[in-house]
Amino acid sequence: MNTPLQQAASRDLQALRSRSAAELLIDYTPGDPALHLQLEDGTEIHYPVEVNGQLPPLRNPDILVGENDLTALSYLHEPAVLHNLRVRFVDSKIIYTYCGIILVAINPYKQLPIYGDAVIRAYSGQNMGDLDPHIFAVAEEAYKQMARNNKNQSIIVSGESGAGKTVSARYAMRYFAVVSKSSKNTQVEDKVLASNPITEAIGNAKTTRNDNSSRFGKYSEISFDQRYQIIGANMRTYLLEKSRVVFQSENERNYHIFYQMCACADQPQFKSLRLLSADKFYYTCMGGETEIQGVDDRADMAETCRTFNLLGLKNEFQSDVFKMVAAILHLGNVVIRAVGSDQSSISSTDSHLAVFCDLLEVREENVCRWLCSRRILLASETVIKPQPRDRAINARDALAKHLYSYLFDCIIHRINQALRVPGKPHSFIGVLDIYGFETFDINSFEQFCINYANEKLQQQFNLHVFKLEQEEYMKEDIPWTLIDFYDNQPVIDLIEAKMGILDLLDEECLFPQGTDNNWLQKLYNYLSSKPMFEKPRLSNEAFVIHHFADRVEYQCRGFLEKNRDTLYEELVDIMRASKFPLLAGFFNEEDQSSVHTTKRVKVKAARPGVKPANKQLRSTVGDKFRISLYLLMETLNATTPHYVRCIKPNEQKLPFEYDSKRVVQQLRACGVLETVRISAQSYPSRWTYIEFYSRYSILMSQAELRLGRRSKRVKQCCRGSYMTLISISLDGPKSSSGQDRWRI
Ligand code: ADP
Ligand code: MG
Repeated sequence: MNTPLQQAASRDLQALRSRSAAELLIDYTPGDPALHLQLEDGTEIHYPVEVNGQLPPLRNPDILVGENDLTALSYLHEPAVLHNLRVRFVDSKIIYTYCGIILVAINPYKQLPIYGDAVIRAYSGQNMGDLDPHIFAVAEEAYKQMARNNKNQSIIVSGESGAGKTVSARYAMRYFAVVSKSSKNTQVEDKVLASNPITEAIGNAKTTRNDNSSRFGKYSEISFDQRYQIIGANMRTYLLEKSRVVFQSENERNYHIFYQMCACADQPQFKSLRLLSADKFYYTCMGGETEIQGVDDRADMAETCRTFNLLGLKNEFQSDVFKMVAAILHLGNVVIRAVGSDQSSISSTDSHLAVFCDLLEVREENVCRWLCSRRILLASETVIKPQPRDRAINARDALAKHLYSYLFDCIIHRINQALRVPGKPHSFIGVLDIYGFETFDINSFEQFCINYANEKLQQQFNLHVFKLEQEEYMKEDIPWTLIDFYDNQPVIDLIEAKMGILDLLDEECLFPQGTDNNWLQKLYNYLSSKPMFEKPRLSNEAFVIHHFADRVEYQCRGFLEKNRDTLYEELVDIMRASKFPLLAGFFNEEDQSSVHTTKRVKVKAARPGVKPANKQLRSTVGDKFRISLYLLMETLNATTPHYVRCIKPNEQKLPFEYDSKRVVQQLRACGVLETVRISAQSYPSRWTYIEFYSRYSILMSQAELRLGRRSKRVKQCCRGSYMTLISISLDGPKSSSGQDRWRI
């Protein structure tokens, strides 16, 4: 019993004995290196007092279980957090809990009566801690801070697929629409909300995890005037999953809009599109089932059209959009046959090719030729090289993917125009709905980009918490340099710095003969010495990154092609020559600059040493993503952030079912436990004197109590020697002098 930790352990265990955790501890003799514990299920274990220099996670007194804010727990660690969330969610059916500045939202998979206008009115004007934790409380806090501090705000919603991000973001937006409703300009709030069904129709799809999974990231800025009423909005989107347009796994679907249109094939306004039912189109039937239980695609189409109209998007534009969607479906049905092993052809009577060309006003014989062959430039001449069937199919699919992603960007651009505020808005609140950290059995370029985005968001979060912490400490004259914050800059550097993963990838993409494996060898050569990078022992086709949330192994296959995202020049020329203005515009650089605003942005250095290279000329997917993330961070850093972490409590989408393993995985991945660690590492408890007094006054002598009742002297009373003794926290940090730090 020599070390300060052991002494503290002994003291705290004495305290524990006298409190509610007594049943947990069977026996402990001072000096004994092991604790004799009984777990909740009755098993007894011997636990060495110092495992990694720490006591076992101690149970919190019952009085604290079910707390609204996890950081109020006396013992702040993973099991306590997990247990507290479970008690709230399973026993009390409460889905929201604070964890310091984070709102943790667990998906109930059940409609709850907690989102009505009356609830919105109840939260309006209240302080964050006054009512139960709620998405509306976070929205109110953002709204209030915007008005009070005259500063832009952001609500950052993250979590894995199906965790409830989109639903939460929608509720936050509805909150603003309701509280800021003016009698004059009633339409604008409806318009802002109407942007959701459209973006969901074109950017959401059924996956095995979520029937309405968003396949893109979205940052929606809601603009307010001086009286803090909504006057418009603007959206930025990130990384639409293009591959879904041409490929869906079993039990998944393509984007909703395709099925909505097929369900309305017989309606007069769609007759000219010559649509069939969804099971007749290759691009919509790959996943098997074309219908979603409980979803009426025909009714949803009416809703899509209604919101198009509400936003004031003209009928001509709508029919152009529908034409493009139908053309993509027909393109997918173009049959490409193999001619020998190295050539391919399309029948001149292919009816789908005819409809495709007819709808898009392009020359059929050109499309037919350039899907199946390529122009090769030699030193002195140009030759036409026939392509084997798989290459021709690739060309067809690449065209479909490009058409759809241009269409997606164009619709977002039009929505933004419809919601644009003349001049500069007085202030805004941004709502970020973005995919959380992902790790699958096989991880590829998509997971790499998503996890990169999450590293950036985590860094933004760490810096923000650090700043808050620092401000708090300065206010109370406490030295703050002692706090050691986790900084994930080394991982970010590994990805985005010069000669980092993205840089080497872009370089390899420049070589016509570049391959995934050559690139991987370069990674091994240049990055193996970095602590966050690893070459897997059993594979020569993968690399490992130690992310803040987990160690992820990425398979190198396909990185180059996904990063290049090329479309054959010959097909681009055909599209550009189309008589259909919307289509021609997609392939016309000048028209595009207004849609892809990030394209011409000159990126400044984020901080010395991590300057994103300015290489727009050969803009790759990775490079564009890096720039868009840079701009996002710049925006977020200029706002006051609020964090919502959504948790998916079980895989089966069952109401109020809590699978601890899955929950803890997500708590780690979305940084909630990192926040707990930061909270525990800095001062773990922040109570006012009054709160402290009311909890611990039971331990005071009569004389001390008499003193305390005269409320002005509570502070003095708390400082009494007895109070100091019980305030020692085992989870608290040790200062360099070896003394416990505790602030009262
Ligand atoms: P994500 O955007 O994180 O992938 P969603 O927001 O689309 O997930 O939510 C998936 C599904 O979970 C929703 O369609 C809905 O059925 C359910 N859900 C999510 N949040 C809630 C909530 N607060 N109340 C009731 N059901 C919810
Ligand atoms: Mg979503």
